[in-house]
Amino acid sequence: KIKKSGGNHYSFFDIKEKSFIQQRLELESEIFQAIEKDQFEVWYQPQINTETYQVYGVECLIRWNHPEQGIITPDLFIPIAEANGSIKELGYFVLKTACHQLRQWRINNVFTGVMAINVSLRQFERNDLLGQVKKTLIDEMLPAESIELEVTESLFSEDNNYHTPILLALRELGVKVAIDDFGTGYSSLQRLKNLPIDNVKIDKCFVDNIEHSSEDVAIVMATILLSKTFKVGLIAEGIETQEQADKLSELGCFNQQGYLYSRPLRAHDFEDWLTDFTLQHKERKILQVVNN
Ligand code: C2E
Ligand code: MG
Ligand code: MG
Ligand code: MG
Repeated sequence: KIKKSGGNHYSFFDIKEKSFIQQRLELESEIFQAIEKDQFEVWYQPQINTETYQVYGVECLIRWNHPEQGIITPDLFIPIAEANGSIKELGYFVLKTACHQLRQWRINNVFTGVMAINVSLRQFERNDLLGQVKKTLIDEMLPAESIELEVTESLFSEDNNYHTPILLALRELGVKVAIDDFGTGYSSLQRLKNLPIDNVKIDKCFVDNIEHSSEDVAIVMATILLSKTFKVGLIAEGIETQEQADKLSELGCFNQQGYLYSRPLRAHDFEDWLTDFTLQHKERKILQVVNN
């Protein structure tokens, strides 16, 4: 029960907070069953090169299609899954689903680029990840180079860097590694120098104000310079407007991902989107030829 502590103030638990905790407890108790009941889905968001207008990559993002609550986004349940250990099962589900989808797309010549898969720190425990990746690649007959694992800077912190042998073994196979949410963590530039990575993802928070903030421009320019010096790829995420896209391209960051191009979509919706996008690109090329 909620106690009123005089006036309009509620003591300790207010209604909102209680329901948040309630919801968390409910999701936590449902999550293992939800895996068995097939309530999780993998959605796909394109990664575009603005010089070529090619969709060179796709990031897969998990969704929980909850029978009462509808689509729940990962920010609400990934932390829970990490806390109760179900992230290992969920992570394996995402890996298998995404690779199976990629295989289908390759067979049908729909999409032959790279599939980027988020993995959390906890999946590196007990060495499961390496075996799961190997098995999945074999099962789906995919080249290791066709998948990329997105990890966060925390994987490389002093406390966690004993995980890097696994990462090195994965890269030895040919699997690509990207550092996600770059610039929001704590890794020093000294550490960055030695990171075993192929790509850097500039976080959305540096993109949001890129047209108006000289600080954000400086951060993006510095990251571009770093990526060139260390010979790693670069992509910016969270691009919502054409102005942001143009500014990033002007600075030299051509690989882009964001709602401007597409939200994350279910596989069949992604296929429709890709057909439209490819058609638009052809029209754009024809127009260029006509105008020159
Ligand atoms: P992330 O890996 O940094 O993914 C980018 C997030 O930004 C996604 O949110 C995506 O839908 C969203 N996004 C993309 N473009 C835009 C944009 O233009 N505007 C805005 N406002 N948002 C944009 P989502 O799907 O809710 O995922 C949130 C986070 O949950 C991800 O951040 C990732 O850390 C985690 N996550 C998602 N799927 C998985 C998964 O399969 N496994 C693990 N371990 N974590 C996952
Ligand atoms: Mg990601
Ligand atoms: Mg990110
Ligand atoms: Mg994130």
